[in-house]
Amino acid sequence: MSQITIAIHGGAGTIEKSMLSPELEKSYLDGLRYALEQGYTILNQGGDAMSAVEMAVIALEDNPLFNAGKGAVFTHQGKHELDASIMNGNTLEAGAVAGVSNIKNPISLAKAILHHSGHVMLASEGAKAFAIQQGIEIVPDDYFYSTYRYEQWQEIKNTSTYQLDHQAKQEHQYSESEKKMGTVGAVALDSFGNLAAATSTGGMTNKKYGRIGDTPVIGSGTYANNKTCAVSCTGHGEYFLRAVVAYDVSCLMEYQQLSLQEACDKVVHKKLLPMGGEGGLIAVDTMGNFSLCFNSPGMYRGVKNNMGINEVAIYGQ
Ligand code: ASP
Repeated sequence: MSQITIAIHGGAGTIEKSMLSPELEKSYLDGLRYALEQGYTILNQGGDAMSAVEMAVIALEDNPLFNAGKGAVFTHQGKHELDASIMNGNTLEAGAVAGVSNIKNPISLAKAILHHSGHVMLASEGAKAFAIQQGIEIVPDDYFYSTYRYEQWQEIKNTSTYQLDHQAKQEHQYSESEKKMGTVGAVALDSFGNLAAATSTGGMTNKKYGRIGDTPVIGSGTYANNKTCAVSCTGHGEYFLRAVVAYDVSCLMEYQQLSLQEACDKVVHKKLLPMGGEGGLIAVDTMGNFSLCFNSPGMYRGVKNNMGINEVAIYGQ
């Protein structure tokens, strides 16, 4: 069998060993391992990269520890507005959904938009109507409720602050630089040599005015192209939008012949960091090279291939 690879992330930020209890650390690592396995099994059975990234992201969306699907953060109005996107590197087809509510797995809605809507991106009520028409699973508001997310929102709900997903249950209020982003994503190379990328998020706690970040924007939060690589991002979306991060990695490979690692390093460390953009990305190319690259202290991440790599990790070096 030719090379197969899957990489996943569950958000980046200030995630340090001292901040997670051993039990919580284990829960995160188990969640990452489970999602990695869901995606890898599809690839190993000869399935395609699009199905692998969708399945890995569904596993992370269904896990309340991550800020996507079930674990999505609260908006200023006390709701959950979800963003997701998926891209096929073989066909350059893409599907995205922004600011939608009551969708159990926004990544599956993004995939349905890609295949059945004739469009790339649908938003809010229209996206929900399309989901109903497509038979996508709808869940009540309280499906997304968790005490931790609720308390997180209570802390800032009467302020004009909006914030990236916090670290798990806190003893103290973390400063702006101690934040973590809990968006989830996956990138894969299948046995046919095709690439795909998928990303899903609840966005930022207390967000208002229909704020949308980089996650559903093709080229910023998600991009895949068989000529170059597949990329899924996590971080402060406003910076990732302005830096057009995912497409920039691909462009550096396509137009400047940089390797995958060189391209990721350049964008994450040399471009984003000076702008103030904290976060990271996962990427894979058609040779099966992968990069789990971040400029924050940690990133929930994992990678598995059929050459003996099978790792999950949280903290930086
Ligand atoms: N990029 C996401 C956003 O800005 C947040 C994250 O990665 O956690 O909506």
